[in-house]
Amino acid sequence: MRDAFPALHQTAYDEPLVYLDNAATTQKPKAVLDRLERYYARENSNVHRGVHKLSQEATDAFEDARSAVARLINAPSSDQVIFTRGCTDSLNVIAHTFARPRLGPDDTVVVTHMEHHSNIVPWQMACEATGATLKVWPIHDDGTLDMEAGMRLIEEEPFLLAIGHVSNALGTIHPVKSIIETAHRHGVPVVVDGAQSMAHLPVDVQALDADFYVFSGHKMFGPTGIGVLYGKYDLLDSLPPYQGGGDMIDEVSFDGTTYADLPHRLEAGTPHIAGVIGLGAAAEFIEQLDHEAVQAHEDDVLQYAHEQLSEIDGLRLIGTAPHKTSVCSFVFDDIHPYDAGTILDRLGIAVRTGHHCTQPLMERLDLPGTIRASFALYNTREDVDRLVQGLGRVQTMFG
Ligand code: PLP
Repeated sequence: MRDAFPALHQTAYDEPLVYLDNAATTQKPKAVLDRLERYYARENSNVHRGVHKLSQEATDAFEDARSAVARLINAPSSDQVIFTRGCTDSLNVIAHTFARPRLGPDDTVVVTHMEHHSNIVPWQMACEATGATLKVWPIHDDGTLDMEAGMRLIEEEPFLLAIGHVSNALGTIHPVKSIIETAHRHGVPVVVDGAQSMAHLPVDVQALDADFYVFSGHKMFGPTGIGVLYGKYDLLDSLPPYQGGGDMIDEVSFDGTTYADLPHRLEAGTPHIAGVIGLGAAAEFIEQLDHEAVQAHEDDVLQYAHEQLSEIDGLRLIGTAPHKTSVCSFVFDDIHPYDAGTILDRLGIAVRTGHHCTQPLMERLDLPGTIRASFALYNTREDVDRLVQGLGRVQTMFG
């Protein structure tokens, strides 16, 4: 698997690179890089409007990519796969087109205490604009959701629940299927932020019964600047256009404009064609994996990391939920995360330090930030060993 990812085979400061920042963005397999090159070298053309060969080829590749993404998440139809700039963009589209027109001062929106800022701020802005209230689903210290408190919030029948599938800061996998089931019993639609699940878990939007499911291409081995908004057909079809422009119209006149059907109605302007085609290649790359083997390997590396790191004196693991994937967050008693990250970088080990765009979570855990090692299917126990050695150097220098 490592051979498929050219970026892994380089040095950083003369050390072989150990890339442990996959929750921020994953590396790209050769299949995706080749597909991007082929598009720009051979097929580059605008989509949907051209009669010429290149435009038709680009359009076919673009719509094939939509089908590949739909297959990957088991969407009932590729019309329910809307291309956006990324997970953040998708959440903002929902906040603007679904939430804002319907929210009022008596309504509430619920998010968990563990959400990424992208799954907090758009709802906070929507609430501020409409007089609605944002409520927070509390968590336990180990990084699991307080289910009793959450169920009480759902019983109050909020307008919407917005929840991550997997926490980017702690790696907790939330039981979204059963949460959605409960929410639906109370008539509450659920938006699932799948930014951190796509590279690690099989996602079946129909089995989950998610009302909306959103994710970014670059966190699932695809390009940056491209993402997906999946929604149930009737919900998507009820949304007003988000942006006006080319491609999203049926007919335009100065007397009024009619709009295209899904998915184009929500995709104004020339799309990120290469991004979509690259994302399609990433979806096909994931589709052909042996998912059980990948999950077993990722679980093994994560468990090994937990074991090895918990033996280090003065190191505290943050986020020890029983159901986790691929994220190991930790702090030292007496070393600032930024200092540790800087030394690790010089040793060729890429980790992320800081609040990971989850400031409310850090405040809740009373931490300035953490050091986060996040794994992907190409990471190994040897990568964990290098991390542990590196942390030994950090302790020698700062301890
Ligand atoms: N949600 C989660 C859980 C994330 O981890 C991220 C990115 O780190 C986002 C949303 C935002 O993704 P993007 O910046 O690709 O829009």
